[in-house]
Amino acid sequence: MKTEIISIGSELTSGQNLDTNSQWLSRRLAEIGIAVAFHTTVADDLEDNVAAFRVASQRAGLVLVTGGLGPTQDDLTREALARLAGVELVFHQESFDRIQAMFARLGRTMPETNRVQALFPAGAEPIPNSHGTAPGISLQVGSCQLFAMPGVPSEMHRMFEKRIRPRLLSLGLGGGVLLQRKINCFGTGESVVEEKLLDLTRRGHVPEVGITVSDATVSLRILARAATHEEALAQIAPVEQTIRERLGDLVFGVEDEELQESVLRLLTEKRLTLATAEGVTGGLVARRLALVKGASAWFRGGLVAYDNELKFTMLSVPRPLVEAQGAVSAAVAEAMAVGCRTHFQTNLAVSTVGIAGPEGQSDKPVGLVYTALAWKDGVKSVSSNWPLAREEVQSRAAKQALNLVRLHVLRHG
Ligand code: ATP
Ligand code: MG
Repeated sequence: MKTEIISIGSELTSGQNLDTNSQWLSRRLAEIGIAVAFHTTVADDLEDNVAAFRVASQRAGLVLVTGGLGPTQDDLTREALARLAGVELVFHQESFDRIQAMFARLGRTMPETNRVQALFPAGAEPIPNSHGTAPGISLQVGSCQLFAMPGVPSEMHRMFEKRIRPRLLSLGLGGGVLLQRKINCFGTGESVVEEKLLDLTRRGHVPEVGITVSDATVSLRILARAATHEEALAQIAPVEQTIRERLGDLVFGVEDEELQESVLRLLTEKRLTLATAEGVTGGLVARRLALVKGASAWFRGGLVAYDNELKFTMLSVPRPLVEAQGAVSAAVAEAMAVGCRTHFQTNLAVSTVGIAGPEGQSDKPVGLVYTALAWKDGVKSVSSNWPLAREEVQSRAAKQALNLVRLHVLRHG
């Protein structure tokens, strides 16, 4: 049986608001073992709503609808469902009384327009809404069970938790769990990662393993379907182990963890202090470190040294070095890291230089980045070239700098 979620609202299709209801519902459904096959978003238009419902009722056995239950002219879900089922809208006294009581509690008189919220397709079952005026609708069309809920996220959440989820479980639609584990990597491309895991990412593998990439962070998602939470965990554990063994120190974290969290965890473990000297990233490395709770214990501070004079005076970068090699060079990045470590008196210092664009320099292209790390016994640098938009270059340069720190501490302490 397939499941579909339909979100209704022109504010969603126009791009004005993001459809968060579908995401929320998919996650809740996964928790009870129901995988969602389709997300559909449709504008406030009667014909289009009927068409979307028709397609959904033919391809899915369970359809969850949000939005379009309000009292205004653009709220069309009731009517569209009636058309789909080929029935009339009928008045439901009990729902009407509830709506009136809701207004009475708020000390307001009910506008006549709210009367339409007590209309339901004949044969449908009203779902009471204890936190708003719009009741939900439960309707069977052919072999498809539809539930319509309010669009307002807080009302929808409550109606789902209180009324719909128990119903799904009692219908025997749920019962299992879908559990997801996300493993995050940095330092190579997604195809290189996939090459190491081809046996796991192939179609039909149990549990399912997928790869996504976002801002150069490659993530593996292990998706387990099982009868219980424990069984799902047991499916995931050996696959996670294999992934970690094969990818080694490309893996930096799980779920929503970012590189800076891994860096601070390692600094704390090894009791090492860090400072930053930033060119191209304009403080982004420091900013990301500062996002982590307790960062100040090991992250001492940093300097944004855009201007070359600052590199000379504040970081003791030799003037001839910049004249000979240009500011965007491995040598200058290294000199900045060394100077920063000395001036900030830290165990480690990391630096960034590069060309964020949109214009390149005569001999250097947009996206060319050098990051360097200095420690007690030495200094090293890495370079990359990402021909991307300014903000993307900066974000990746910051990640590269953080990753340089991470790998060094991991390998050498
Ligand atoms: P209801 O069925 O509760 O009356 P509605 O669609 O008639 O909902 P709207 O006025 O269109 O009511 O939407 C109410 C609020 O809920 C708006 O702020 C809208 O952006 C938000 N909303 C509706 N659908 C979604 C969704 N899928 N994701 C996130 N927000 C949504
Ligand atoms: Mg709406």
